[in-house]
Amino acid sequence: MTEHTENQFETGTVVYDPGSDKVGEYQGKAGPYALLRPLGGGREWEACPELIRPATPGERLSAGVRAANSRSCPWPQEPPSPVRDCAACTDLAGLRDAARARRDASAETDANVLLRRHQRRYHAAFLGLKEYTVVPDASAEAEYETSCTDCRAGSGARRALAEVEEWQRAHTRETGHPRYRRTVADYAVFTPR
Ligand SMILES: [Zn+2]
Ligand SMILES: [Zn+2]
Repeated sequence: MTEHTENQFETGTVVYDPGSDKVGEYQGKAGPYALLRPLGGGREWEACPELIRPATPGERLSAGVRAANSRSCPWPQEPPSPVRDCAACTDLAGLRDAARARRDASAETDANVLLRRHQRRYHAAFLGLKEYTVVPDASAEAEYETSCTDCRAGSGARRALAEVEEWQRAHTRETGHPRYRRTVADYAVFTPR
């Protein structure tokens, strides 16, 4: 039997597979193969473990941008247009147009990715995306808690403020400690408007 000196990669390492000319995340061994997954997720593929190597920063970047692109939209998209009076949009669209003018397709793609990302974050309404609103979580009750500032003794989480005050009364009677720190925690959910 031949001893192979195989590259050992940690799961999640971004590697380049010359066999398929693709960059992927190392998932582990599958029989004699190395199992790789596209950066944005998707169908895994099998690669020769002796050929794969860690991806260079350039390979990682272009694969990452491609993944971000395909995550945001599975079909070909119109290039995003800048929102009027937004400095960031104007800036990114300027970079994009300059890249297009000098026929630098990869810089043009990168600028479009960044512009889309910026717009999803700051111009949800412009894009017709859902707006999110915060509502208190009705399924989780608020929690009250207090601790003595002298000895750090704590009440633990209680369902009602009255229970916390009851605990404080008892603690002060017992120790004479008069000062407490009180906190209220509640839960909130982000839901589409
Ligand atoms: Zn903008
Ligand atoms: Zn105390």
